[in-house]
Amino acid sequence: MSQTVLILLGAPGAGKGTQATRLAESRRLPHISTGDLFRLNLTQGTELGKQASKFMDQGRLVPDSLVIDMLFDRVSQDDCSSGYLLDGFPRTVAQAEALQERLGGGEALVVIDLQVPDHLIVERIVGRLSCPECGAIFHTSFNPPVKPGTCDSCQAALTQRADDTAEVVQTRLSAYYEQTAPVADFYRQSCGVCVVDGTNLPDEVFKACQECVTEAAA
Ligand code: AMP
Repeated sequence: MSQTVLILLGAPGAGKGTQATRLAESRRLPHISTGDLFRLNLTQGTELGKQASKFMDQGRLVPDSLVIDMLFDRVSQDDCSSGYLLDGFPRTVAQAEALQERLGGGEALVVIDLQVPDHLIVERIVGRLSCPECGAIFHTSFNPPVKPGTCDSCQAALTQRADDTAEVVQTRLSAYYEQTAPVADFYRQSCGVCVVDGTNLPDEVFKACQECVTEAAA
């Protein structure tokens, strides 16, 4: 197999970002988050960033045409030649189909679905704090930084994402159930999906994700 492609599915707040960071490090694969790519574009003031933010601020998905081009551009870079880990992509069946067509079937594809019930999702999202510098993720109650408001890893000031509010989270959850949940069915019918209980402690979730990757490679 020439490439390993790991895909992390799950609702917003299911823990994809946290697990993706750890899995990417342990598997030595680049961690590619389409949400992070949009936020980077926004910080850099690009036209793509401005267009995407109109949808992101409302909790809606960015149109497929904008996402797919950006993602394919990123995965054609040299660091992705032996594989990559996708966090937040694909989020629609059309994105999954476009990726499938691009991959062509010669790769080791592992799809992990992190499952967390809605009431926990809301609690997790509204208390989430992110580091704009290194991407570390904290939570005001479940995983507070040592010094309030400051990143443990790089000491930058932590921020709350504009879309991590109680109002926007409802729209994000609706988008998830309407547009993203069918993506798991798409993979269930092709390569299979490894379901992981995302309500456990991060270390346990990580262990279960590692097992999914190991089993798929066996
Ligand atoms: P995330 O950081 O993964 O929670 O993504 C934040 C927001 O970026 C989402 O709520 C969407 O508005 C947008 N976004 C990220 N990835 C995608 C995608 N694959 N398709 C459409 N919109 C996306």
